[in-house]
Amino acid sequence: MKKVVIVGGGINGLVSANYLIKGGYDVTIIEKKEFTGGACIKDSKTIDGKNIDFAYGATVLGMMPEFIFKETGLSKEIVGFYPKTPKLVYFKNEQASTKIFQDSIELEKELKNKWGEEGRINDFRNDENKVIRFIQKLYKDAITPTTELAYEELGKELSDLWIFGTAKNLLDHYFTSEKSKLYMGMTVIESGPASIYDPGTAFTIPLMDSGSVFDGYWGFVKTGIWKIAENLTNINLSLGVKINLNSSISKVDTQSKLISYTKDQNKIKLNYDHLIFATDPVTPSRLIKDFKQDIELDEIGTSGKVTAFFRNPVIWKDSNNYPDSFRFIFSNNSLSQFENASQNALKNSGDYFAGFIQIYPDGSAQRAMDNKEAYDKIILFTKNLSYDKKADDLDKIKDEIINTVLPYIENADDLVYSKFLTPKDLNETFSFPKGNIDHITLTGKQNYNKRTFSNNPSNFYSYFDFHDVYYCGAGSFPCGSVAGTAGYMCSKQLIRNDR
Ligand SMILES: Cc1cc2nc3c(=O)[nH]c(=O)nc-3n(C[C@H](O)[C@H](O)[C@H](O)COP(=O)(O)OP(=O)(O)OC[C@H]3O[C@@H](n4cnc5c(N)ncnc54)[C@H](O)[C@@H]3O)c2cc1C
Repeated sequence: MKKVVIVGGGINGLVSANYLIKGGYDVTIIEKKEFTGGACIKDSKTIDGKNIDFAYGATVLGMMPEFIFKETGLSKEIVGFYPKTPKLVYFKNEQASTKIFQDSIELEKELKNKWGEEGRINDFRNDENKVIRFIQKLYKDAITPTTELAYEELGKELSDLWIFGTAKNLLDHYFTSEKSKLYMGMTVIESGPASIYDPGTAFTIPLMDSGSVFDGYWGFVKTGIWKIAENLTNINLSLGVKINLNSSISKVDTQSKLISYTKDQNKIKLNYDHLIFATDPVTPSRLIKDFKQDIELDEIGTSGKVTAFFRNPVIWKDSNNYPDSFRFIFSNNSLSQFENASQNALKNSGDYFAGFIQIYPDGSAQRAMDNKEAYDKIILFTKNLSYDKKADDLDKIKDEIINTVLPYIENADDLVYSKFLTPKDLNETFSFPKGNIDHITLTGKQNYNKRTFSNNPSNFYSYFDFHDVYYCGAGSFPCGSVAGTAGYMCSKQLIRNDR
């Protein structure tokens, strides 16, 4: 039986382990921490003697392909829920929301009335769906994304617009109103300050809607998203995957195919036939003996997160009949302001440049799934924070973020506690390079066919020129998120290469 060693027990390591053990390999995961899950783990807080668990890193589920959810066995263990009610968008100084209906006709009417949109919303959705179907096929078949394939499947015009073009051009192509462009384009800077003028950034827009676990939407997991990692760990253990926690790797010798690591003060040497790194992309370069390649990455992260706890269920001043809807508060009204705020964070010319706040109503979703908790909680996923400071040094910024949201809440006095994380905290807590939730920013030069470290295009997940060393962390195609797509595609390519 061939031996695969996987370094890193985050979602990508766990998914690849699941497919490889079922593919007949002997699989060992080496994880440096004392738990698996990576950035998909829980945190806990006791407030007034009552405990509440909450998502430490990732919060919402959406990008996972449905086939991974089913084939890994997760669908039997996990209860999920996604809101069918419209998303609610507020621009600066607006108290009443614009509703993002799932139905295109209703949406077209709403955007015309509220934002004066005269563009082609229906065409945008139809074309986006063509691109999404194309990407989903790449996922399922574990096919290397290439320019030729995109041209073949989508045609040159759609490919140039949606995959290789700039986000700015894509948005201008379908929309007339700045507000529509801002809303539809916000995901371009979700992980880091990619410029909307950068070729290749258009692709992030369909990418973020390409999960199928909730039919392209984002939703919640009963108890919390960490249940995905916890359950997959248990499933893998029951299948025979060996998981070595608390293990510190000192060296990887690719000549003799040996990994040296320390666990519980014991020095261990483990040999492998194939080695997979499901970490950030820089870690393998530090561990591999005699690694000589230069790695240049756009990696800065600008996302932060405030988790806010309320004594009673949050009462929204607007649309309280949609308690489970995602809400979005924009501090900019135009694409140029949006771009400037994001680029200023990149230049580190201040601590915070208000961009948008995505509000995830996790507590309300938990109640909808019949999980009763001691407090309500909402998560404020926030742009644009500079890299160099920890949350402890930015109390004022936390207050600014919370004070942007509280005016929308009737019972603001019920806020009892909040926890803030900046990109610097994400770096220290999760070892994310520069705190980037995708490990590296989704700039054009790191998107689609360029989101690889392989020097061999047909072996997309191999690490540079190494034959038996693979990389499938969040820095590889398609991107970060609790999806495991990279882990799945990598394991399929490995199995194929071995035949
Ligand atoms: C604040 C925040 C909010 C987010 N929100 C969402 C969200 O709502 N929805 C969503 O889908 N995604 C979200 N994400 C992104 C998502 O969590 C990540 O993209 C995803 O979890 C990455 O998975 P991974 O397996 O590639 O890497 P990781 O989760 O980073 O796992 C890598 C693992 O490798 C281990 N490791 C690293 N170096 C070594 C070593 N030398 N030896 C052994 N082990 C090592 C690490 O300890 C870790 O366990 C968020 C992330 C953060 C931080």
